[in-house]
Amino acid sequence: MKKSLELFQKIVQNLLEDESVHPVAEFVPSATLFEQMDLNLDEHPISEENLEEILQDLVFKAPRTATNAFFNQLFGGRNDKAILGDLLSVILNNSMYTYKAAGPMVGVEKAVLRKVCDLIGWDENAGGTFASGGSMTNFMGMLMARDFKQAEARYEGVQNTLTVYTSAESHYSTPKNAAFSGIGRNQVRSIAVDEKGAMDVATLEATILKDLEEGYTPTLVNATAGTTVLGAFDNVDAIADICHKYKVWFHVDGAYCGSVIFSKKYTHLLKGLDKVDSFSLNAHKMMGTPLTCSLLLVKNKKFLYDSFSNDASYLYQTDHDDFNLGKTSLQCGRRNDALKFWTLWKSVGTQGLEQMVNKQFELADFAREYVRNHADYEDFSIDDSISVCFNYKGIPARDLCTLLYEHSQLLVGYGSFGDLEFVRLVTINVNNDTDVILDFFKTLEQFVDENETLFLNSKVSV
Ligand SMILES: *Cc1c(COP(=O)(O)O)cnc(C)c1O
Repeated sequence: MKKSLELFQKIVQNLLEDESVHPVAEFVPSATLFEQMDLNLDEHPISEENLEEILQDLVFKAPRTATNAFFNQLFGGRNDKAILGDLLSVILNNSMYTYKAAGPMVGVEKAVLRKVCDLIGWDENAGGTFASGGSMTNFMGMLMARDFKQAEARYEGVQNTLTVYTSAESHYSTPKNAAFSGIGRNQVRSIAVDEKGAMDVATLEATILKDLEEGYTPTLVNATAGTTVLGAFDNVDAIADICHKYKVWFHVDGAYCGSVIFSKKYTHLLKGLDKVDSFSLNAHKMMGTPLTCSLLLVKNKKFLYDSFSNDASYLYQTDHDDFNLGKTSLQCGRRNDALKFWTLWKSVGTQGLEQMVNKQFELADFAREYVRNHADYEDFSIDDSISVCFNYKGIPARDLCTLLYEHSQLLVGYGSFGDLEFVRLVTINVNNDTDVILDFFKTLEQFVDENETLFLNSKVSV
């Protein structure tokens, strides 16, 4: 063990040093990479030296998601306290289903969930759990909605009248989960959005009414706190009223930006959250913990037990259900994802979490200002979002992003809204400062200037 830990430290040290000079790993096309590297598994063991070499090579060639040149996904950066917590959970290897197997880690998970429920404003009836990602916490929300509307579905299977409502800009996990849950992809109603990417509430109500008339059973409304492309917030307050009126389960997908609840300044973006039935958030996005750290919060924990508990005499042998977290889990064995978030939260306090959230918005405001004040840019952003959307000199976003990647300059992605396609810069890495954002624009501009010929074919207008 000692040797492996030393090797771990050595490789990590080398990586950190290299990242500080090369924030983007050298681009190698996939076909070439797998020719260069021998990833095959053989009959015989290899030497320690050989293993070290291969591991180091693998680590160095991996995309660098924690550096100041990575803006490609809805996560980024590296939080040392959260990493410390996660490394300890790896070493301990507890499984979260019982107190017998997880001991105080049960308390760690419960403390995180309780505190988030407090922030939402929920009483002791509330509860929650962790799952392996935001897609899965959304899935759990959908299953609770299904069982709420059709309790017998758990035993007899699903009737095909159940319908789900989610905005046209919501995450693809909703139709996928509709397939998993037996509700069916065709039973998902895609609700139009307004010009700022938020669900059109009048259309939602009209669609529910039409479905009721036609004999369907409106079951779940899935609202989004931070849509994947624009970072838009659906109007939770108004949608909650509609859900109550028609007795529809209301889940808020806060995977991307649900963490605004940690900020007094931005929590208003989720006004009405106390009225929802379930809410999910990914701490591995805005809170910068290692992947994955996905929380599901439920206003009445009875629904978690109803949908997820199962007797298992070989497993639940001691202690009360309250401490046997497997009773409310999608999984059986489950890794300790709470400890990394707890370690971070304990060390910086709720104030520290608030500062992280605020900083992301400050960086986004700075980037939006830059885009809006520079004539070569076209701005597609909405305010109060940490996704900054733009085009530069009329270059198609997909060409620009791909060339920046292939020339190992910057990792940034593109998205679309309606007919528009644009670069999406995500200011989620709190290790960055405004000078990094400025560098981002300068790198992009310089790259375009110095490589005009690359863009000759792709220019649509200047
Ligand atoms: C990231 C994201 C998800 C999915 O979360 P995973 O942890 O990647 O499964 C769901 N919804 C939204 C809005 C997201 O941004």
